[in-house]
Amino acid sequence: MMQHVINKVIAIFLLAFVMASCQKAPPSIQGLLYSDGSAVGIEITDGIITGIVPLGTGDATPELYVAPGLIDMQINGYMGVDFSGPDLSLDGIREATKALWKEGVTSYLPTVITSPHERLITNFAILSQAMDDPEIGMSIPGFHLEGPYLSPVQGFRGAHLEKYIRPPDYNEFQEYQEAAGGGIKLVTVAPEMEGSISFIQSAVEDGLVVSLGHHNASADVITMAADAGASISTHLGNGCANMINRHHNPLWPQLSEDRLAISIIVDGHHLTREEVRSFYKVKGPDNTILVSDALDLAGLEPGEYTRGERTVLLTPDVVKFPAENVLAGAASPISSCIGKMMQYTGCSLEEAIRMASTNPAKLFNLDDRGEIKPGKRADLILFTIEEGKVLVHQTIIAGEVVFSLKAD
Ligand SMILES: [Zn+2]
Repeated sequence: MMQHVINKVIAIFLLAFVMASCQKAPPSIQGLLYSDGSAVGIEITDGIITGIVPLGTGDATPELYVAPGLIDMQINGYMGVDFSGPDLSLDGIREATKALWKEGVTSYLPTVITSPHERLITNFAILSQAMDDPEIGMSIPGFHLEGPYLSPVQGFRGAHLEKYIRPPDYNEFQEYQEAAGGGIKLVTVAPEMEGSISFIQSAVEDGLVVSLGHHNASADVITMAADAGASISTHLGNGCANMINRHHNPLWPQLSEDRLAISIIVDGHHLTREEVRSFYKVKGPDNTILVSDALDLAGLEPGEYTRGERTVLLTPDVVKFPAENVLAGAASPISSCIGKMMQYTGCSLEEAIRMASTNPAKLFNLDDRGEIKPGKRADLILFTIEEGKVLVHQTIIAGEVVFSLKAD
C-alpha cells in the first residue's frame, strides 16, 4: 500500500515536471523578421528581448512583419503640437508622443527650431519634464536643436525666421542645455558662421552630435567642420537655395566627405527620386538616416490652417503655401518614408529599417534599441506593407503594447 502511494506521488511529480517543461511560455510576439522574412517568435522578459526563436513548421505563419521600433531624430511637432510653439505643454507632448506610437515611432528627438531666446529656454524646460515622464519618457531619449546658429541668407535659412538667426555662441547654448536638463543630443549649425568651428569642437567634446544644415559653406569650411567633429548633414538637399553654382555649392563636398553621414526627407516631395538614389549610392545604408522633419500639422486632417500670418494647406502627405503652390514643410511620419525609400532606391526592407532605426540608435549611443537582439529593449513594430506603404498594426515599447490597430 505504502509503495503504491509513493509510486503515485512520484508519478504526479513526473507529470508536473513534464507539463512544466511543455508549458514553457510561448514566444510573446510572433512575426516575419524584417531582415530576412523568416517566421520567428520573440521572447521577452521584463521588457527585454531574451530570445529569437524560429517558428516550427507546425506553427501558423504570421501575417505581420516585425521590426525594431522607428527612431525619428528630426520632428518639429505632431497632431498640432509644436515643440517650438508658444503653447507647448507636457500634456501636448504626451498627445504627440502617443500619436507617434500609432505610426511606429518608439523613440524620437523633439526638434526645436530657431526661436527667441526665452522660448528656447521655456520649451526645453518643458521638454525635459517629458523626458523624465514615466509614461512617455522612454520614447524621448533627447532633443534636437536646429538653429538658431544657421545661415541668415534667404534660401539657405528655409523657414527659419531671419530675425532670430545669430552666430553660434557656446555659452548661450549651454543655457539651453541647462534648461533641457542636458537633454540636447543633436545640434544643427551652419559651419560658415563666425565662431562655428570652435562651437562644433566644444559641442563634440561635450558628447553632442553636430550636424551641418541650412548653410552655404565652401568645401574648405566643410572639411574644417568635419575635422572639428561634425558627423552628419541635416536633411541634405533641403535648406539649400534653388540658384546655386553647379560646381561650388554645399552639396558636393558633403557628399564627397566620408566623415559625414546624411539625413534625408524621403516623403516624395522634398527630394526627387534621382536625388535620393544618388545620395544613397554615395552614402549607402550605414551612413544614411531617414527623418520625417514633420511639422506640427502632421497627423491632422488635410485642409487649410493658419500658421503665423500665413495660410498653409495640409495635403495628406505634405504642407504647401497654396497661393504659390510651393512646399511649406513635411507632414509624413517616418513610417511613410520607409516605403518611399524602398521604391526609389530598390533597397531592402532591412536596409530601410536600418536607416530609420538602427542608424539613429547608433548615432546617439542608444545601445538598448534599434535592433532585434537579445539584451535590447523590446521596442517593436508589427506591420504590413500595403501598396508600398508601411501600415503599423501594433507598437510595443519595452514589451508593452502601446498601440494596436484592432483596438484603435
Ligand atoms: Zn531644416
